[in-house]
Amino acid sequence: MSAKPQIVPPAGIAVIGLGNMGVPMGACLVGAGYGVTGFDLSEAARGRFVAAGGRAADDIASAVGSAELVITLLPNGKIVRDAVDAMRPHLEPASILVEMSSSAPLGTRKLGEELIAAGHEFIDAPVSGGVKRAADGTLAIMVGGDPATIDRVDPVLAAMGRSIFRTGGLGSGHAMKALNNYVSAAGLVAAVEALQVGRKFGLDPALMADILNVSSGKNNTTELKLKQFIISQTFNAGFPLRLMAKDVRTADELAHALGIATPLADLCAKLWDDAAVGLSETADHTEIIRYMEQLMP
Ligand code: NAD
Repeated sequence: MSAKPQIVPPAGIAVIGLGNMGVPMGACLVGAGYGVTGFDLSEAARGRFVAAGGRAADDIASAVGSAELVITLLPNGKIVRDAVDAMRPHLEPASILVEMSSSAPLGTRKLGEELIAAGHEFIDAPVSGGVKRAADGTLAIMVGGDPATIDRVDPVLAAMGRSIFRTGGLGSGHAMKALNNYVSAAGLVAAVEALQVGRKFGLDPALMADILNVSSGKNNTTELKLKQFIISQTFNAGFPLRLMAKDVRTADELAHALGIATPLADLCAKLWDDAAVGLSETADHTEIIRYMEQLMP
C-alpha cells in the first residue's frame, strides 16, 4: 500500500483556539498558502484572527466540516477533550487531528487512541518559544505519534516551527513539553530566590545577573528573563503564569502516575499553583516574584 499524501497547500486546515498562540500560528499557515478556518468561543478572538488574514467560522462544526487537518490550540487537555467531542460528528472521516496545546500526556494518549480507533489520524505536537516565535514561525515543536502521520503533517509543522523533534509514541510530545516547562519553572524560582537573598544582603541585582550568566548558575531565566522582565519590573515576557502553573502540575502528576518520587516538582507545583491563585488571572509568569515577596515575613 502506498503512503498517504502529505498535507500541502492549499489543503484545508481548521485551527480551534484563536488565543495568543492560535492567531499567530494560524497566520503562519495562511502565509504558507493553506486554506485556514479558525474557530474560538470568543468573538473578539475570531475578530483578531480575521484581522491577521485568516477566515473565522461561527461554530466548530463549520470550522472542521471540510478540513483535512484540525489543529487544537486550547488552554488544557480537558478543554481539548470537550472540543473534540463537539467536533467529532462533523469531522471528515479521514481527517488528521494535531493536538498542539500543552496537555496532560496520559489523557492525550487515551484521546488519540479513541480517535485512531474511529478511523482518524492523531498526533500531539506541543510547542515552545512563546508568542514571538509563534509569529516568526520559528517555534520548537515536539511531536508524538505514528511516524507515517507525522510524515504527512511535516509541511504543516514546518510552516510554524524551525526545530521539529520526534519524541516517540502518542503523548510523548506532551510529556516532553510538561517536563521542559517544569525545568524552566524550577530554574526561574531558583533564580528569583537567589535574587531576593542577594538583594537583601546588599548585592546589586544587575551585577548578580551578569555574574550568573558567566558562571555555573546560568539558566534560561538568568539569561533571558532576570534583567529583561524581572529586575526591570516590566513583567511582559508574554507567557501567562496560569499556563506555567498548569504545565508544572502536569509534569508532577505524570511523575506520580509513573510512581516516580519528585520532591522538588511537588514543591514547585504547589508554589506555582498558589501563585496562580494569589495573583491576577492575567499575571505573566515572571510575576511570580511578586507572589514570593508576599511570602516574606
Ligand atoms: P489563550 O488562553 O491565549 O487562548 C486559548 C483560546 O482558546 C482562547 O481564545 C479561548 O477563548 C479559546 N477556547 C477555550 N475553550 C474553547 C473551546 N471549547 N472552543 C474554542 N475555543 C476555546 O492560550 P494560548 O497562550 O494561545 O495557549 C494555547 C495553548 O498553547 C495552551 O495549552 C498553552 O499552554 C500552550 N502554549 C502557550 C504558549 C504561550 O506563550 N502563550 C507557549 C507555548 C505553549
